[in-house]
Amino acid sequence: LNYTPYLPRAVVENAIERAFKVWSDVTPLTFERVFEEEGDIVFSFHRGDHGDNNPFDGPNYGLAHTFPPGPRLGGDVHYDLDETWTDNSENFNLFYVTAHELGHSLGLTHSRDIGALMFPSYTWYTEDFVLNQDDINRIQALYGPSPNPIQPTGATTPHPCDSHLTFDAITTFRGEVMFFKGR
Ligand SMILES: [Zn+2]
Ligand SMILES: [Zn+2]
Repeated sequence: LNYTPYLPRAVVENAIERAFKVWSDVTPLTFERVFEEEGDIVFSFHRGDHGDNNPFDGPNYGLAHTFPPGPRLGGDVHYDLDETWTDNSENFNLFYVTAHELGHSLGLTHSRDIGALMFPSYTWYTEDFVLNQDDINRIQALYGPSPNPIQPTGATTPHPCDSHLTFDAITTFRGEVMFFKGR
């Protein structure tokens, strides 16, 4: 419906397209942009109180919210107009947040897997983004797998108590000990 002042329109549209592809790659779902009628999933940017009892809070914290599948507002995505939206690894990456919100549009709730796209808080975004296996399993439980003969595989989050778990690097950073493995 409208745009963020931080990104050119084409970049916003490309981010949303890529976010849809995250889910259409692993399910039989297909998505099409419509102009003549109201879409099932409508994206819009809002500031503060915008009439749905879910006021935005200015920069940081609440970034976006989405209504679960249903008529009218159902499936619609609202972004906080006051966030600095980006198309890189700086906060907050519009593609990454949109992919998460679309998970809600399609009926997913949050995941407890910190590596999952559907983990409740914005963790990090890198250009080699791969959907987590946890997200793939959960969306396929709702819609089934993609008809594509080559099934996409997701990244998996290592289990911290796995006795065979090894790490690639360990460092301290801002007073915390961080363990790194793979991507
Ligand atoms: Zn809203
Ligand atoms: Zn969420």
